Amino acid sequence: MNEPTVFSKIIAGEIPADIVYRDEEITAFRDIQPLAPVHILIVPNQAIATVNDIEDADAELIGRMWCIARDLAKQEGIAESGYRLVVNCNADAGQEVFHLHLHLIGGRKLGSSVSR
Ligand code: 5GP
Repeated sequence: MNEPTVFSKIIAGEIPADIVYRDEEITAFRDIQPLAPVHILIVPNQAIATVNDIEDADAELIGRMWCIARDLAKQEGIAESGYRLVVNCNADAGQEVFHLHLHLIGGRKLGSSVSR
């Protein structure tokens, strides 16, 4: 079995995080180094490493991640002002945590790229 990711530890309650949504399949929490006033990570509880590891059977789960992002954008008050959803895959995209996650970023003008 693979080593648990930092996100698996957050989902298991082993390390703290500012959790804004949780159900039996998906957890969402604030990014520890936010790039904007709103920066939330939407994460499947099951550790899928990258987009490349998504299986066809995960389609509903992946779709629900987007629905949760939509609802959180509304909850955070950025649905109308706008936001960006980002998924990094592997080295060229700068993926740091190998546990699939959708970044919900907003609350300011984002420009053409948002990165560290
Ligand atoms: P990636 O580059 O893999 O798409 O993004 C990983 C994100 O996870 C980064 O934005 C980083 O700030 C965030 N992150 C890494 N470790 C932690 C942590 O322990 N807690 C939280 N809340 N976010 C983390």
